[in-house]
Amino acid sequence: MGLVAETDPSPAAIEAKGLSFSYGGTPAVVDVSLRVEPGEFCALVGPNGSGKSTLVRLLLGLLQPDAGFVRCLGGEPRALAERWRIGYVPQRHSLAPALPATVEEVVSTGRIARRGWWRPPSRDDRRAVAHVLEAVGLAGLARRPVGALSGGEQQRVLIAKALVSEPALLVLDEPVAGVDASAQRAFRDSVVHEVREHGAAVLLVTHELGAVAADLDHVLVMKQSIVFDGGPTELSARGVSLGVHADDLPLWLESLT
Ligand code: ADP
Ligand code: MG
Repeated sequence: MGLVAETDPSPAAIEAKGLSFSYGGTPAVVDVSLRVEPGEFCALVGPNGSGKSTLVRLLLGLLQPDAGFVRCLGGEPRALAERWRIGYVPQRHSLAPALPATVEEVVSTGRIARRGWWRPPSRDDRRAVAHVLEAVGLAGLARRPVGALSGGEQQRVLIAKALVSEPALLVLDEPVAGVDASAQRAFRDSVVHEVREHGAAVLLVTHELGAVAADLDHVLVMKQSIVFDGGPTELSARGVSLGVHADDLPLWLESLT
């Protein structure tokens, strides 16, 4: 790990080579290599069950691959000293319903690793929390107990908590699945804004690209393996529409088998 970090002048946000993983003999991820550059907004797309969440857990060091290797921000993800530089919002993760903490308190915990748990919140910490709550549209709910929020609002609390440490890499696994189009646009605007402002790389896992198509730098399409890796224009050039016809991409994916 040390060697890679010291000799690479501008390490990739994520670099993976030859990753494979099986659940008890059933392959979920097969020979995946990819690279996400610093500051890049990258979407990882694929049908349900295509291995996206498994790949994300491999990329973040939460699962050990059967083969291959991963580097995040120049180091092994599990060994990264400044772990707060990676923000992760897992798929369908909900907060404990009885959690008495307020929205503001939960989001504030996203700053702890960065400043050191022994220090009280600084003015910068408080400002960052207020800014992020505004960005995800939760400013009005800051003093509410998170347990009283809807599922979609709780998801936004988790996104805000991941954003507030100003990560260099933000990984969001289907953060707005099942949410209506205007909420998806609001989410996109807040994430894209945060990313452009702080220069973070974002890996957004989704099964449809409609809401973010116009903002993407990079698209990875997977179905156990990577079946497309390129820019959105390149994908359009293959006759796959990302924004206009929401179902073009799923149809194309089905045609790949
Ligand atoms: P996606 O996120 O693209 O929907 P997943 O990575 O969740 O795909 O799942 C890929 C495949 O692995 C699916 O066939 C799924 O059923 C299977 N799978 C996912 N998690 C587990 C698990 N913990 N144990 C066994 N099989 C799993
Ligand atoms: Mg998934």
